[in-house]
Amino acid sequence: MLENFERYPLTFGKTPIEHLPRLTETLGGKVEIYAKREDCNSGLAMGGNKLRKLEYIVPDAIKSGADTLVSIGGVQSNHTRMVAATAAKLGMKCKLVQESWVPHDDAVYDRVGNILMTRLMGADCQMVDEGFDIGIRSSWEDAMQSVRDQGGIPYGIPAGGSVHKYGGLGYVAFAEEVREQEKELGFTFDYIVVCVVTGSTQAGMIVGFKVDGRASKVIGIDASGTVEQTREQVKQIAHNTAELIGLKMAITDEDIHINPDYAYPAYGVPSAETNEAMRLAARTEAMITDPVYEGKSMQGLIDLVKKDYFPIGSKVLYVHLGGVPAINGYSYTYRNG
Ligand code: PLP
Repeated sequence: MLENFERYPLTFGKTPIEHLPRLTETLGGKVEIYAKREDCNSGLAMGGNKLRKLEYIVPDAIKSGADTLVSIGGVQSNHTRMVAATAAKLGMKCKLVQESWVPHDDAVYDRVGNILMTRLMGADCQMVDEGFDIGIRSSWEDAMQSVRDQGGIPYGIPAGGSVHKYGGLGYVAFAEEVREQEKELGFTFDYIVVCVVTGSTQAGMIVGFKVDGRASKVIGIDASGTVEQTREQVKQIAHNTAELIGLKMAITDEDIHINPDYAYPAYGVPSAETNEAMRLAARTEAMITDPVYEGKSMQGLIDLVKKDYFPIGSKVLYVHLGGVPAINGYSYTYRNG
């Protein structure tokens, strides 16, 4: 589906699919749980889902003649870490707007984890006191203007790489990769569980799995806490991506399955249940998740299994999108494990 699009490799290649036998057993064994390890996809600054998206965005950035990548996220943004890594790898400059998206107090929150690595890679991080919003921000547009004012040529990448015209392509490729791996495994997955916030990860999967009738089996677990905005963005990106690749099937509202039940109390703030889910994944499979994204999708997976949402015998693929560096910003929360 993607033969007509250039891809600049930033990842190792196919990511592993791992069976999670102890988590499966702990949850009663009625559903087989597997994980696709997007968190282990690259040697670039610990990798994660953004690199799949950036692989299709970078050729356009290079062609534009830009010398500076400009992007935006929260203080502990995984996305801005990945843009900084990409800029370093390409020999470009990087300007980032890091907003106060999370109402979380930890003495070292703005010094460790993602932002520490981002600064180490040479990015110019501008701290801006604005709250959470997945849309286009004036602070991002101002940052691009400031690059121009200094004689540079900016290339803008929106939050999460999502509303970029090529933002959905990486996870269309993901679906193709899963299909190839299913041939080797000798079975297909009945459900795919994935965290959703800015939308292009799930939107790409919806388009990619539409062709084999599994779009609505991609269950997005919302971690934004602003689910209607996220749903609208997923819909828009899925439609644009389907059109871009010339998909001959229409994406419908029924293809977009987003569960809002686990995002509480707010974006970036874990509930007691999120923390328990993170502990369970860590203690059964040594699989570390973070309190912002994957901890919430792990909570959703565990709760849906416990509620018998998945029919007995289902094979469920949990997609681990990365984001572990952020746990360093929650050192007090997890001081006792
Ligand atoms: N998981 C992690 C670790 C992320 O960094 C993000 C980024 O926002 C997501 C999940 C959600 O992906 P998306 O923003 O494409 O919906």
